[in-house]
Amino acid sequence: MEFVDEIIETGGPILGTEHIESLRVCMQCGKCTGGCPSGRLTAIRTRKLVLEALLNMRDEVLSSDELWLCTTCYTCYERCPRNVKVTDITRTIRNIAAKEGYLALSHRMASSYVVKTGHAVPINDANKENRKKLGLPEVPPTTHTYKEALQGIQSLVKKTGFDELIGFDWETMNLKE
Ligand code: SF4
Ligand code: SF4
Repeated sequence: MEFVDEIIETGGPILGTEHIESLRVCMQCGKCTGGCPSGRLTAIRTRKLVLEALLNMRDEVLSSDELWLCTTCYTCYERCPRNVKVTDITRTIRNIAAKEGYLALSHRMASSYVVKTGHAVPINDANKENRKKLGLPEVPPTTHTYKEALQGIQSLVKKTGFDELIGFDWETMNLKE
């Protein structure tokens, strides 16, 4: 199977086949790369990732560090003159990469915080202070307030196998080495 077809088959049932199929009409204009905020500071070249996907360079794309440098800001998605749904295509490719063991450590770590606290970025003292200055409760009405909701999240993590996907160790409550 061509890599493009695999991407459509994976992302289509979740985001819509037509949505992901937009990948096929990329004309390599580079507007995505030109506007990518992450690309100004990192090695990600969005146009190149799209091209490699179209050229059936499956292994190169899935094992690429660049794949994980997208912040999912959706700028490329908004700018693309061909309406290629770039960000959602990138997310779909990441799903395939994660299942093949290429999930980046930084993403595994953020995921482990979700498992441990319910937040990819748990609140810190500085943000608590800022919230107080704005007249807000010190912590938001999330798992930070409703600790019992964390059990629901952890139960979902186990049922979906997300813990296995990120390599989470329930005994140490950390990532496996
Ligand atoms: S902006 Fe759209 S058409 Fe242009 S290179 Fe990026 S994905 Fe392709
Ligand atoms: S969604 Fe990702 S690839 Fe697109 S502009 Fe934002 S950081 Fe760059």
